[in-house]
Amino acid sequence: AAKGNGGGEHRFFAAEMEERAQARRALELDLRDALSRNEIEVFYQPLIDLKTGEITTCEALLRWHHPERGYISPAEFVPIAEETGLIISIGEWVLQRACQDAAKWPAGTKVAVNLSPVQFRDRSLGARVVSALAKSGLPAQCLDLEITERVLLEESESTLYTMEQLKVLGVRISLDDFGTGYSSLNYLRKYPFNKIKIDRSFIADLGRDQDAPSIVRAVAGLGNSLNMIVVAEGIETEEQLRQVKEEGCHEGQGYLFGRAMPFDAIMEKLQASPAQRANLVAVA
Ligand code: C2E
Ligand code: MG
Ligand code: MG
Ligand code: MG
Repeated sequence: AAKGNGGGEHRFFAAEMEERAQARRALELDLRDALSRNEIEVFYQPLIDLKTGEITTCEALLRWHHPERGYISPAEFVPIAEETGLIISIGEWVLQRACQDAAKWPAGTKVAVNLSPVQFRDRSLGARVVSALAKSGLPAQCLDLEITERVLLEESESTLYTMEQLKVLGVRISLDDFGTGYSSLNYLRKYPFNKIKIDRSFIADLGRDQDAPSIVRAVAGLGNSLNMIVVAEGIETEEQLRQVKEEGCHEGQGYLFGRAMPFDAIMEKLQASPAQRANLVAVA
């Protein structure tokens, strides 16, 4: 009887697996056409200077409005795009869109674009970045490229080559989700990052895990001594804001300041920002 039961469960499990694989293949097929059907959009989330309260940077975040399934999170479709190679064309599109949008923002406002390890492995990344900057007229120092430790894991000659190439162009490079991967200190020594973004899991732990403040403080200290800007991701409460300031973070990002929003909404926010207005007046 036990054997029969196990077999039944096994069949049930296999059917569920098959169903899941089918759903994934369907999503993969839809993703192939998502760009040409204008289902994919770029939203922007502000990063705030914790001293002045001003927006320094807006991070470009993908949004997919699936015709039947509604909104699908990038956490779900970016991995599929990476496995199928579709991330190359989607990533190229985001880069161009983001540069064009940022070229319309108040002078000096940066745009951050996330790069997948698949894009980073692509030998033509440097040329694609040059072309996006040239077409949009965005100054190189206003483009911030976010990579995760997954990119550095490969530790190849070409990773170092691409990093150097981007550095020469004058674009900024940020280390995203710091603390979730292997977080080798060696990476920080070896690669020329401008920013470290402390993963939001550490910020969420502030106030519920007594060691969390020491971790945030240590990373802020490290970033400071290496001349890197330290960003706290995922700030949701006033209490977290108070703590990340106290521990020495320079910039913050999170729902407390604003969620990712469409171009028109971020434009409005940027234009309302007093220091940016002062900047524009000074330039004019
Ligand atoms: P990420 O680059 O670490 O982006 C930050 C994520 O945290 C975003 O999720 C953002 O909406 C979310 N977030 C920001 N503040 C808060 C907060 O206070 N609380 C909470 N709970 N979440 C917050 P999103 O937009 O769903 O993107 C998820 C991930 O998908 C991104 O993580 C990034 O790894 C990837 N992704 C998004 N757009 C792109 C893209 O254009 N290219 C690539 N390669 N990956 C992308
Ligand atoms: Mg990011
Ligand atoms: Mg992140
Ligand atoms: Mg993330």
